[in-house]
Amino acid sequence: MTKPTNPKTFHVKSFGCQMNVYDGERMAELMAAQGLTATDDANAADLVVLNTCHIREKATEKVYSDIGRLRKHGKDPMIAVAGCVAQAEGVEIAHRAKVDIVVGPQAYHNLPDLVAKASRGELGLDTDMPVLSKFGALPARRKVGPTAFLTVQEGCDKFCTYCVVPYTRGAEISRQWDALVDEAKALVDAGAKEITLLGQNVNAWSDGDRDLGALIRELDRIPGLARIRYTTSHPNDMTDGLIAAHRDVEKLMPFLHLPVQAGNDRILKAMNRSHSRDSYLRILDRVRTARPDIALSGDFIVGFPGETEAEFADTLSLIDEVGYAQAFSFKYSPRPGTPAADMDGQIAPEVMDDRLQRLQAALNRDQAAFNAASVGRTCQVLIERRGKLPGQMLGKSPWLQSIHLITDAQVGDLVEVEIVSAGPNSLAGIERVRVAA
Ligand code: SF4
Repeated sequence: MTKPTNPKTFHVKSFGCQMNVYDGERMAELMAAQGLTATDDANAADLVVLNTCHIREKATEKVYSDIGRLRKHGKDPMIAVAGCVAQAEGVEIAHRAKVDIVVGPQAYHNLPDLVAKASRGELGLDTDMPVLSKFGALPARRKVGPTAFLTVQEGCDKFCTYCVVPYTRGAEISRQWDALVDEAKALVDAGAKEITLLGQNVNAWSDGDRDLGALIRELDRIPGLARIRYTTSHPNDMTDGLIAAHRDVEKLMPFLHLPVQAGNDRILKAMNRSHSRDSYLRILDRVRTARPDIALSGDFIVGFPGETEAEFADTLSLIDEVGYAQAFSFKYSPRPGTPAADMDGQIAPEVMDDRLQRLQAALNRDQAAFNAASVGRTCQVLIERRGKLPGQMLGKSPWLQSIHLITDAQVGDLVEVEIVSAGPNSLAGIERVRVAA
């Protein structure tokens, strides 16, 4: 089979974080605007974009095996590697895997040019980081589901010692106020009822004197927008204005994902988190005072180099103290080029396995308790999709719980629901009232 030039069909496969999902959607819109047709089947596509994530271990190897699979089962498509692996590996990945295009997360607006270059038999390579130009070069949002992402901020200046993001996504930048308000309005016109503001450090967003709280207050004024969320945050960027927005803005959902990573100060310092256990807990106190029903989520890393059993126990006790509604947890994995990868005291895999199991047992216990405590509560659910059973629809509570119910409500409807039973990962509800959107 010959490799397609001037591809007619495309498939975008995104890995990793929500920002990659957003980037994947924007790349798909960009290719559709060029007249290409999207296909759900990667093996049938002329152009496959692998939008990669570099956070987890063996990320690069996974990309190579994906490329191998595509070559074996697909039609020898034009392959573009995008995302953080593309940024980290650069031309190396083109040489090793013989892909046609390598495009970093700040350069994907140039994808049409890179496809044209690849169609001429040249390598399409762009890993530059001229961040702001990207957004201006992307097509307008036309059709989205009831929930949509909106990237407001990219990059990170925090340099946690285990993390590749500052190297792959570059320095912290904030998109401009007007562009964001316009894009949010366009998303609502295109069908969004809920917008999740995205950023590697979303709460570091600022526009002169205005912080993320001010932006949320502005978005609150958009008719037809019912819900606002934001992720992912850094504790040190929880400004007074943002905490006050949790108190005042009804559309801002009572849910906060605030990563802490560890509960021991020596480990937090070695991670260069620039907050302590106590300062993190004090921020949570302030947020809970502003919005007493807020549900909390966090990220945890077990087995950071040098972590002792007693230091790990501090993380468990932090979890007990906070009571998370949900959380993400990982074993530490050394990322090449990060300071922690060269630290002494790398933890044995079996010790990490054991710690992760104990940590997840605590988190699962708290999530199940949070869900169980929701039974009997009445809340609004935004219907996001059909369930597997006849008449069953799935949606999310304000606290980001998955709710299923039997209803004739449609995708995008807001329904007042009484929660009648709870499992560890989802809840069942009964419709009480249909809410006018
Ligand atoms: S705050 Fe730390 S963990 Fe988060 S993106 Fe920045 S360096 Fe990575």
